[in-house]
Amino acid sequence: MEFKIETLTPIWTGDVNRTCKTLRETSLVGSLRWWFEVIVRGFGYYACDPTSENNRCKYDGNVNSICPVCQIFGCTGWSRRFRLEVNQNFRKIYEGNLRIKGENNSWYYPSGVMSCNGEYNRFIKTLSGGEYLTDEEYGSIIKILLKFISDYGMVGGKTAIGYGVVKFEGKDIKVDKEDFENLFNYLNKKKSHGKNSNNMPILDEMFFAKFKINSNSLDKIIEKVYECVDDNYFPKSIYKCNGTEEKINNKKEFLKKLRDYYSFIPTSALIRKELRKRIKEKWINNTKLRHFLMGYMQKNKKLAQEDPTRFSAIQVSHIYNTGEHWEFRIWGWIPKNLDKKFDVQREEVIDFLMLLLNNQEDDNSNRSNEEMSKGFWESIFGDNCVEKINGNYIIKYSDNENNWNSIDFGDLENLDERKKAFESMLRG
Ligand SMILES: [Zn+2]
Repeated sequence: MEFKIETLTPIWTGDVNRTCKTLRETSLVGSLRWWFEVIVRGFGYYACDPTSENNRCKYDGNVNSICPVCQIFGCTGWSRRFRLEVNQNFRKIYEGNLRIKGENNSWYYPSGVMSCNGEYNRFIKTLSGGEYLTDEEYGSIIKILLKFISDYGMVGGKTAIGYGVVKFEGKDIKVDKEDFENLFNYLNKKKSHGKNSNNMPILDEMFFAKFKINSNSLDKIIEKVYECVDDNYFPKSIYKCNGTEEKINNKKEFLKKLRDYYSFIPTSALIRKELRKRIKEKWINNTKLRHFLMGYMQKNKKLAQEDPTRFSAIQVSHIYNTGEHWEFRIWGWIPKNLDKKFDVQREEVIDFLMLLLNNQEDDNSNRSNEEMSKGFWESIFGDNCVEKINGNYIIKYSDNENNWNSIDFGDLENLDERKKAFESMLRG
């Protein structure tokens, strides 16, 4: 199967030197695997924890002894069923770091890589899956993964702070009814190997939201980012796709060139900053919850550059151009057993987030009247930058409505509802 990768925001696949100049195939495969685990678990099937010595699969001579994810992506004793051939060029787009200031901490943005030429990459099925994985099933699963990630997910590292929005393009990447049948046929063939452990990412605990940007507000948005960029800490040159290096004289010029050459604006930190602040106001003394939702900000400068947020349940992309319009996405994994660890119900967190994202105030908010008069999006970007749909910023998923921009799988009644929602997400 042939496909191109269009990077909508930079991809971070940092190597051992913590620099990132090319796209590492293993990092992309790792992301595909992660999303497949999420989907498999989300529909009630078992996917092992590949990071755990005790809970990951080991092939014992019978393919039914390993989980459906390992059967395709491999595990001890059983090789990955495909090879990924990356032919496309990816380019580092600037030297040094962009630093965006928060209240007490900063976010560091090293370049990452973006796609430049139009070569095709290939998934090559190298090994048979035997009777347990037909070519059709294999093809459908890859397609579903590529489409899902293109439309809702992210790949690589540092996704919490804006990296990793990609569009996989190719004539084969269109998902239809048969593909879902193939996926579930495949999953149904596997006998269960156990219970998914509680602390693994799973689709039915995830929410996804996307927002369109008014294209005539881009200058205004750049102005807002500009105010937060550290005066002494922004790249002094930018590379164009053809390899020429252009000197940068000031930080606004840098932001405009990112927009003009690479079609994104580094807005993630601004949204995160406001979100963190609102979560702090809402659950004043619950620091653990805040760190879980928004990540723990590293105070140590060196660590902050390498790993700015550690784990964060909520991911916020930069603003990017889809080819048709400007948008950004926010998604997150809010576990159902949240209350056990943080003393707050999942529902409460989701309701609060949806209110915020819809520009509304929480009834029990501790905000002053002056602050209350500004909605969430106005506080970040100013007026009318984020587009409304029928008067709202958030339209929740419903199965007889096409215009929705947010879905919480945790809110869906049962497996059939989740399947229906999943299909409608991918079939557009
Ligand atoms: Zn496994």
